[in-house]
Amino acid sequence: MQDAPQVKRYHHARRFLSVAGFLLDLALLSALLFTGWTISLRHLAQSWSARPALALLIYLVCFGVITKAVGMPLDYARGFWLEHRYGLSNLAIGGWLKDQLKGLLLGGLLAAIGLECLYGTIHRWPAHWWIISATLFVAFFVLLTNLAPILIFPLFFKFRPLENPSLTERLLALSRRAGRRVQGVFEWKLSEKSKKANAALVGLGNTRRIILADTLLETLTDDEVEAVLAHELGHHVHGHILHGLAVQAAATFLGFYLVNMVLLHFSAHFGFAGLRDFANLPLLVLVGTALSLVLLPIVNAHSRSMERQADAYALRAIPDPSAFVSGMEKLAELNMAERHPPPWIEFIFHSHPSTEKRVAFAQQFPGQR
Ligand SMILES: [Zn+2]
Repeated sequence: MQDAPQVKRYHHARRFLSVAGFLLDLALLSALLFTGWTISLRHLAQSWSARPALALLIYLVCFGVITKAVGMPLDYARGFWLEHRYGLSNLAIGGWLKDQLKGLLLGGLLAAIGLECLYGTIHRWPAHWWIISATLFVAFFVLLTNLAPILIFPLFFKFRPLENPSLTERLLALSRRAGRRVQGVFEWKLSEKSKKANAALVGLGNTRRIILADTLLETLTDDEVEAVLAHELGHHVHGHILHGLAVQAAATFLGFYLVNMVLLHFSAHFGFAGLRDFANLPLLVLVGTALSLVLLPIVNAHSRSMERQADAYALRAIPDPSAFVSGMEKLAELNMAERHPPPWIEFIFHSHPSTEKRVAFAQQFPGQR
């Protein structure tokens, strides 16, 4: 079955807007760096406060406002206009703006904490800052992964325990068979914002939980929801969250090491007053962006293999594998998923195998009845 023309158009537009946004970010960072505007901005911040931590904060606020103002039209096009054009959103403009503001405040707060720590570490331990900062950042990711389901997600969505005793009992039976303890199954009120459906395993340790969008619960049968739950449980059984954190930790150490190398070699060239000069932020972000671009296909290939592992687990765990197939078909329909993405697109950008491949895998799975 080929993708419908509107599905292709939707994904073309999404990719176009994402790539355009990425190029715009690169252009802005390069402009700040190569024209020396970042140094002027640092001068301005220092003229307002002689205290390094406060001057950095002023610089960060200016940097954030400029970046957001330049990126806003494309954020609107991708996050609001496109979703409405294809009938995938339930969010009014006021709600969208409110979410943007909340995201900006939260992102700004986290970025400010992270960067104050980073430049404080460079100041105190100029030779070993990258090892210390990478360690601190990894500890921070772990803490954030643990706290996100109770502190961050509720800022954007409502959750409540799943009110379906038979489904809950099925999941508990599944998790007992898997020898894993699930901390809870929650209904996620996604329908207030979107017509799309999703399910995820979130949190870490005492906050680890399964969240199921209400849009998914409305459309899928209990057998199909059980198949989705089994897939999420497969991530539990194979330890994928810790695995993901380990990959993130490795990338963080590599990233900070590269930033240190680049700063040591190019600080004088750009007129920075040593490593601790926060005017080097655009260079630091550019190095991080270049590294994530190089790592993207590798991280996604790794993610697709974990998704396949979770699918295989689900197919072994549920009584009727055909529920997995029909569940996948319904999810693809609801989310306007691309069933046949061009292979190079799937290789670079997709964290999950395409619906077509997942369905074929399920139909050929050993023991399929
Ligand atoms: Zn998954």
